[in-house]
Parts: sequence; structure tokens; C-alpha cells
Amino acid sequence: MNELIMAKYGEIALKGLNKGTFEDILLKNIRRRLRSLGKFQYMKKQSTIYIEPLEEVDLDEALRRLETVFGIGALQRAAVFEKDFEQIKTQGVPYLKEALENVRSFKVEAKRSDKAFAMKTPEIQNELGGAILEAYPHLSVDVHNPQVTVMCEIRDKGAYVSAMRITGAGGIPVGSSGKALLLLSGGIDSPVAGYMMAKRGLIVDGIHFVSPPYTSERALMKVESLCEKLTAYCGDIRFYCVPFTEIQEALRDNCPEEFFTIIMRRLMLEIANRIAQKNDYGALVTGESVGQVASQTLKAIQCTDAAARYPVFRPVIGMDKKEITQIARKIDTFDISTLPYEDCCTVFTPKHPKTRPDFDAVIKAEKSFDFEPLIKTAVENTTVKLFRVEGNKE
Ligand code: ATP
Ligand code: MG
Repeated sequence: MNELIMAKYGEIALKGLNKGTFEDILLKNIRRRLRSLGKFQYMKKQSTIYIEPLEEVDLDEALRRLETVFGIGALQRAAVFEKDFEQIKTQGVPYLKEALENVRSFKVEAKRSDKAFAMKTPEIQNELGGAILEAYPHLSVDVHNPQVTVMCEIRDKGAYVSAMRITGAGGIPVGSSGKALLLLSGGIDSPVAGYMMAKRGLIVDGIHFVSPPYTSERALMKVESLCEKLTAYCGDIRFYCVPFTEIQEALRDNCPEEFFTIIMRRLMLEIANRIAQKNDYGALVTGESVGQVASQTLKAIQCTDAAARYPVFRPVIGMDKKEITQIARKIDTFDISTLPYEDCCTVFTPKHPKTRPDFDAVIKAEKSFDFEPLIKTAVENTTVKLFRVEGNKE
């Protein structure tokens, strides 16, 4: 008996004329994610991608990987039979043993897209339900609230029986919306922001500012581990690491202390602008959330935003820490983010940062020193590293 995985579209199913483009990108992402696991045959049909192993492969692992692929609304692992009800019954019922032996209620949901199949949907449901009850007498049918729903689909190529349906990652396929540069710190918020924008189909690469010796090698490794974690959702990630020490020292020595943080953030954005321009990014992403810290008041955001020459996406802007933390736990970045290493943002931070900085005063303070040569050097000395999606390290 053969098994396969059905990846059912989420939002893509609703797309109109350009649905094909989204489908192709999704298929490419799925292939990439599974390539190192073994050989598969892929088929697109009726808002579903059928993923059929052509050799012995670990389907549990395949499902685990596919759970983080954006664009998939639901995943099903199913057994494949001839479109012959006797076979469906005699082989399908034993196949369901593991799924049914430890539950009390079930229902059968049949779908018949091949109208040439002799039995109608209610008949399939009744007959298969009866056979299941006979084989597993501890069960009862519950059509409203079953513990397990057995799916039986009669499609063009065959009949599929399944008792396993997992919710997919949702969203739209990474690569269908363009490329953005995520300002990635070691904190809780920015990895979540990256995850959220990848979910909207963006390719998300990371940019991180380091200030050695004030920030340590371990702090950088922490951010690199975050990148690695994010690849499960974002796919391959290019990681730009910007040496920021000289700029921060110049800031400390030349600008009013109360504006230190705000000008530092403007300079971060200026560097991000240039990296974005050089490498063809269409937007910047940050993990800012209104009111969370002094640099995230409206006045402060106005000052930093004005330094950006690209749209700045802040997907967690209206979320509270608890909501952001929930997502961080779900995507498994929380434990890394809470490791206690310093970030360059905490180096030289003033005791009393201005929470309502005056825009003109900030610009004036920034102009009192010529940062241009330092910015240029920082951009020139930026290093790039590629993080490949897990399980695909060739
Ligand atoms: P996070 O949890 O993402 O670190 P935060 O609540 O600590 O956010 P800030 O330290 O004010 O907030 O940073 C706000 C945003 O600025 C971050 O979400 C991130 O996008 C960006 N950022 C901060 N520090 C760095 C850094 N060292 N490198 C790159 N981006 C940074
Ligand atoms: Mg931070």
C-alpha cells in the first residue's frame, strides 16, 4: 500500500488569474524543503499538491517540514487505493487502525470529484462508516463533534483514505511578494516580525548591527541561531552583519546623550537603506511595537521612520508582549531570544532617553557630526553569510 501527502492550499485557493504563479512558487518551496529527504513525485490538482514518495522516505519528517511552509492551509497523510470500493474497504479500514484505536468517536467525510465513480457521496460515507464500526466496535459515530474525521476522496487518479489532517502554516508562499530586509536583533520581537512578513510571501533576509568589543561573539552567535531557526519558515536567509562600533563611539562622543538612541536608530536605518539599494530589497522590517520602550513612542518612530527610504514594515506594532511571546514560542525562537547576551542597542544607552524627541532638534544634533565616512566604511565592511533551510545543507 502506498501513502502520500496532500498539501491543500490556503489563501492561494482564492487567487484569481495569477493563481498559477503562486502555485509554482509553492511547489518550488515544497520541493526545496523535501529534496534532502528522498525522491518524490509532485502533482497539482484541484487546489492540492499531491506529494508521492518514489522511494522509502520518512513521511513523518516530511510532514514536520511541510508544517512550516507558507501557502499550505492543511496537510493530510493518506493511503492510495484503486478506485474500487472493495479495495478501499478491505485495505483502508486496517490502515486506519492507529488513528482509531484510541478514540471513541469518528465520522466519515467523503468527496467524489470523479463523478464516474459508481457510488454517491452519502453512500460511500455510510458503507465505509459501517465497515469501520464493524472492525472497531468500541467506536461510535458522531457527525457533529467527532474525535477523528476519516476522509475518503475519490479523485481523478485514485482513491485516498486518510484520518490525519494537520493545520498548515497558512499565509502565501515565500517569494511571491518580493524581498525585504529584516533588522534582526537578538530580542524576542524582531524574529517574530520576520516570521510574520515571510507569511505574507516576502523573502526575508536579516541585517544585524554588532559593536565589538562591547558586544560579544556569543551575542552574534545568538542572532545567527535565530536566523537558522527562521529558515524553517523563511527558506534560505542571507545575513548581513554590520560593524557598528565606530559609529556608536562617534555618537557617544559627539551627540547629546538624550538623543543617542534615536540617532543610532536613524543611522541603522541609513545603513539598511544602502544595503537594501545595493541588493534590491523593496522594504525594511523591524520588531517595533508602539510604546514598548522609549525609542518606540510615536515621536521616536517619526524620527526613525524619516530616515528610511523604503517602506518600513512593523508587523508587531499593535501587539503586546504576551501576543508576541506566544508566536515566539510557536516558532521556537523564544528560548534563544531570552539568552542573556547584550545587544548593541544596550551599549552606551542614556539613563534618560527622550521619549518625545523633537524632530528638528534630532536632525540638528545628527548634522553636527559628519557620519558619512563612518557609514561608508560600515557598509563596505559588512559581511554576508547564507543560512540554508534546515535539512537542505548541500
Ligand atoms: P527586539 O525584541 O526585536 O530586540 P526590542 O523590543 O528589544 O526589540 P529595540 O531594542 O528598541 O526593541 O529594537 C527595536 C527594533 O530595532 C528591533 O525589533 C529590531 O528590528 C531593530 N534592532 C534593534 N537592535 C538591532 C541590532 N543590533 N541589529 C539589527 N536590528 C536591531
Ligand atoms: Mg532589542
